[in-house]
Parts: sequence; C-alpha cells; structure tokens
Amino acid sequence: MVYLHIPFCRSFCTYCGFYSELLPGGAACRNIRNPETVSAFADAVCREAADRKAECPGGPDTLYIGGGTPSVLPFSLLERIVRTLSEEFRWNGLEEFTVEVNPEDIAAGGKKYVEDLRRIGVDRVSMGVQSFDDGVLKWMNRRHDAATALEACRILRSAGVENLGVDLIFGLSFMDEKMWNATIWQVLNLPGGPPEHISAYQLSVEDGSALEKLIWKGKYREASDEVCAHQYEILCRALGAAGYHHYEVSNFALPGREAVHNSAYWSGKPYVGLGPGAHSLSMSGESRVRSWAKPSLQEYIAAYSAGGAKDIRESEVLTEEQMAMEKIMLSLRTDTGMPETELRRLGNPDGIDRMLASEDLKRIRGGRIRIPEDRFFISDAIIPELVR
Ligand code: SF4
Repeated sequence: MVYLHIPFCRSFCTYCGFYSELLPGGAACRNIRNPETVSAFADAVCREAADRKAECPGGPDTLYIGGGTPSVLPFSLLERIVRTLSEEFRWNGLEEFTVEVNPEDIAAGGKKYVEDLRRIGVDRVSMGVQSFDDGVLKWMNRRHDAATALEACRILRSAGVENLGVDLIFGLSFMDEKMWNATIWQVLNLPGGPPEHISAYQLSVEDGSALEKLIWKGKYREASDEVCAHQYEILCRALGAAGYHHYEVSNFALPGREAVHNSAYWSGKPYVGLGPGAHSLSMSGESRVRSWAKPSLQEYIAAYSAGGAKDIRESEVLTEEQMAMEKIMLSLRTDTGMPETELRRLGNPDGIDRMLASEDLKRIRGGRIRIPEDRFFISDAIIPELVR
C-alpha cells in the first residue's frame, strides 16, 4: 500500500496539526511565494517513487492520496504523479484508490474535475466536511459552508462516485445536542443518498494549531469528557440505526464499504509513505522499521532534485515493546479486536483479567477479545492497562 502526502492547503483550519504549506492564491499566501514550487514538489514525488519502488515489491494494492488538501493540486500535476507512481510501482489495477478532497474544490472544479479523478483511477473519495453548521464551519476556519458541502455531494454523485467517505468532528464545547443531531441528520440525508463511509473524530488540541493559541488566550474552553462522550453516543446510536458498521473507534461504514487502505494500517501491514512528513513502515527480518521524511517542503524538494542528497529520511527500528504496544493499540481500536492468546502473550495478563471483569473487554467469536462498542470512547484509558 502506498500513501502520498500533498502538503498544501489554501488556509489553515483552527484545529489542524498536519504538516502543510499555504498555497499561492489562498487567503493568506505567505509560505509559498513561487508557484513553481508546486510543480517542483510533483517532480520530487516522482523521483522519490523511482528511488523507493523496491520497498513495495509486487506493487501496492491500495493508494491513498491525503494531505494537506490533495484537491488544491492542479489536476495536470496530480495526473502526472499518478501516472508516474503506476509506472514505478507497476500496479496492475488497485483494490482501492482514495483521494481526499475539500468541498469548495469539488464545487469549483465541478463534474469535469470529478470525472477526471475517476479517469485516473480514483474509486473512493474522502471529503472533509466536518460539520453542516455554518457557525461551526466558520469557527473552524473552513473555506466551505454547508450549502457548498451539499453541492459537492451532488457533483460527486452525478459524476459517478459510488464510494464516498465524509469526515465529521464532534466534541466542540459550544456545539449543543441540537446542532450535532442536525449535522448527523444531514449526513444521513445527503443528495444522492448517505455516504458509504463516515469518519468522526473528537476535536483535539494539536501542538502548534490555532486552537492551542485560542486556549492559551482563554478564548476557547475544551468540552468536558461528559459532553464528548454524549455526542459520541448520539453518533453511534444514529449510525447504528442507519445500518452502519462501527468497525473502528472513529470509523463507520455501510456493510462491505469498510476502507481497505485504513484497515490495512490497523492490521499492521507495511506501507510506503511518499512526500514530506509522510511515515512508512517496513519489515527488516523480524524487526519493523518506521521511517519518515522530515516535514519540510523545501528540504524535500532539495533532497529529491537532480543530484540531491536524499538524506531527508529518518528511521527507527521498533523495539519489541513498541511493536507489542502498537499491535495491541491498533487491534483493539477495531471491532474484531485480537486473539486472546496473542493479547496475553504480548500484553499484561493481570490487566486483561481486570478489564474482562469490569466489562471493558469482552470475548467474541473465534477466541478473540475486543473493547465493546459502548466502551470504545474510553479505549485510550483501557489500552494502557493491557500493555506490559
Ligand atoms: S484540516 Fe485539512 S484543509 Fe484544514 S489545514 Fe488541515 S490539512 Fe489543511
């Protein structure tokens, strides 16, 4: 599987901590002064793919283009990158090809843009909607409003997108139950039908984000755990009633529409991450190696320019403890959990027994153990109890 990070946005959202640079033409174009930087980035990605193709022998089965905002990349550059990746990694049809988009780019690009995405092989679109409340969207510094998100859904469906994922955010202290219910109702009643996939993340305070500054200045107070838990419960109940499979703490899918690429991350499959800031996971004998390119566009372009030093990558070999922790953490965030024998071998048997007794864990078919759905919200408190 291959992930490509597109490090550009037209503005920065209040809560965001992802690595990204502001693109020329955006509301505040201070980071990238030279538009040629964007095409230099595309050249660098193509060179990185050529350099690293051996890390994915046999070719990837999934490609995920995320960011940043992939939909701000000029389509001609995206097409060039995808063509190069397909040649370098030699895939022969992908099981899933996802691209992340923002509603305003779909509304601006129209049906033609979406048809172009489908022509280069995109068969799954993940759209960052976050909310259908204009006040919430404004506070988040999103560039779209609810009407634009609905228009984007209309365009995506009319252009033939049959696998649509929508991202939402909950846990805002000023978002009351009525506002949250309205957003959930709207996502289940989108033009063209409900999305095949919904991801819902609790608002968190990321280092360096505008939200962190708002809190320092006393201009925002985080929602209490009770409020967040209640909003999560409302979501789980509504999506369960609408037929969604709650297959990971933050992810819901109509049956058979679970994200293949993301599911592979949670099962611990190796992956190649391209682009500045993107992480990769590879096997070296029995060891697992995590590596990443520094989150710096300028250094990335320099490293992968002709004759570049290519020394932008850093790596660490995971210790046995780190591997066990990661396995337990990723597996127990899913509804299939993990085999009890493996959990006992890697984890803390006393903690496991304690969590079984308090019903924070339960046994399911096939000798497996999972966190019950009604305890998913506190999985971050349960999992540390299970680690040695
Ligand atoms: S949330 Fe998405 S669009 Fe907003 S700043 Fe972060 S990467 Fe960019």
